[in-house]
Amino acid sequence: MNKNRGIIIGRMQPVHNGHIQVIKKTFEEVDELIIGIGSAQLSHTETDPFTAGERIIMLTKALAENDIHSDSYYIIPIVDLLMNSVWASHVKMLTPPFKKVFSGNPLVQRLFTEENYLVSIPPLFDRNQLSGTEIRRRMIMNEKWEHLVPKSTAKIINEINGIGRLKQVAKKELIIK
Ligand code: NAD
Repeated sequence: MNKNRGIIIGRMQPVHNGHIQVIKKTFEEVDELIIGIGSAQLSHTETDPFTAGERIIMLTKALAENDIHSDSYYIIPIVDLLMNSVWASHVKMLTPPFKKVFSGNPLVQRLFTEENYLVSIPPLFDRNQLSGTEIRRRMIMNEKWEHLVPKSTAKIINEINGIGRLKQVAKKELIIK
């Protein structure tokens, strides 16, 4: 395996500027990057509103917007497994060979370390605002969120009426007695 290839895995619900900054940073250390779309089976919930396909479009357009060329990355959807202990092998089976794992997620760090991969913890970029949880909260509360995601991501979310979807699935059923 000659290529210096790394991997980063994220739910990207939605893709935001923190993801793009951390992806840019990893290219200081690798020639090619595998970007795993985690929890690919999930969509239409309050915590995971967007489908894997929608997240792939968001990411592809956001990387192009940031002049990251498509021959330098592979985007691969990865469904979750109920078994943490074999998840790193599951990821390995689905992806091109890689040497280094980039993750700020402690469970991801642990599972790849146990499989003897090199694990690097990237710096955090404005984690209070650049977080999927915070962005989805703003969407539901009608607060400003567009500036926290790439322009192309905001456009896609608006085109698919993502805010309408998120608000609807986040509604609690009214119990009338
Ligand atoms: P995420 O979208 O929250 O983050 C993706 C990556 O970007 C992380 O490394 C995170 O540290 C980084 N990041 C996010 N915001 C940042 C910021 N502002 N500055 C710098 N870095 C930032 O996704 P996640 O929750 O870490 O994704 C992990 C995925 O792996 C999930 O889909 C999870 O289900 C999956 N997973 C599955 C299993 C299993 O199936 N058994 C086990 C472990 C993990």
